[in-house]
Amino acid sequence: MFKAIESEFLVPTDGSFTLSGSSTKPPSSFDNNKDYKKKLNKVIDSIQDLQKILYAYDKHSVLLIFQAMDAAGKDSTIRAVMSGINPAGCQVFSFKKPSSKELDHDFLWRTNKSLPERGRIGIFNRSYYEEVLVVRVHPKILSYQNLPDKVDLDHIWSERYESIQDLEKHLARNGTVILKFWLNVSKDEQKNRFMSRIDNQEKQWKWSSADLKERGHWDDYMNAYEEALKNTSATWAPWYAIPADDKPFMRYSVAKIIKQTLESLNLKYPSLDEEERAKLKIAREQLESDY
Ligand code: ATP
Ligand code: MG
Repeated sequence: MFKAIESEFLVPTDGSFTLSGSSTKPPSSFDNNKDYKKKLNKVIDSIQDLQKILYAYDKHSVLLIFQAMDAAGKDSTIRAVMSGINPAGCQVFSFKKPSSKELDHDFLWRTNKSLPERGRIGIFNRSYYEEVLVVRVHPKILSYQNLPDKVDLDHIWSERYESIQDLEKHLARNGTVILKFWLNVSKDEQKNRFMSRIDNQEKQWKWSSADLKERGHWDDYMNAYEEALKNTSATWAPWYAIPADDKPFMRYSVAKIIKQTLESLNLKYPSLDEEERAKLKIAREQLESDY
């Protein structure tokens, strides 16, 4: 089964994760003068090459999950990672408030329908993790979920972590490589980005007063993230807590983890057996005689 690559941003898989051990700023080794955009482009070129082999190999699928507070840079990071990828082999799904049809199913149903096929990369912009994040911050949402039993708030979150762990383990056993990125932005930096949305005419369309309301629950969200990451980071489905206050560094770090993970899979172009090679030889001969 797939094993997470080592990284300074890997969330420990032994349940020891704490928010205080996770920085929103790049590490001190980060060199502001280094051109992280150029470095990102190089990594993206490698991802592009690896994706071709992933597609031909056709045994693994890759699921990239992005979770973050508003304005952390999910969209732009997803765009950056996708920029080099063949669109035929990659799909992005955004998960917003569930529809009434979605609420008529269990909480893993809507995302399961969008899981990537073998050979492909699927990107989730938000995911089933919202069920232990926004729903944990606003437990009244549970009352719209048509759940059969009376909700026990002392147990429901650990039950949901268990459902998520079980799903991810099942997927991993069957070839899905799951990488989960938490883009960890600071409250101050979120404020700067909200301000610039308000002040900049080209960004005003992005502004939503709902985002300000959620900002008011910052500490509850941080608590929910800490609990979720602590309980669901596994070697077969690791979380990476990426410092998100510096966007070029964040995008480069995410892309690098994807690249290194794809490299660790030892993907190979399928090799043909003798019989298939013989068929190729015949086809070539037929073409030579202007078939
Ligand atoms: P953008 O603002 O860049 O368009 P977004 O992902 O923030 O992207 P919004 O429409 O602003 O999209 O917000 C989606 C909202 O839906 C978020 O507040 C998120 O927490 C909420 N959401 C997602 N999944 C669920 C869920 N399962 N239950 C309840 N709310 C959810
Ligand atoms: Mg939003």
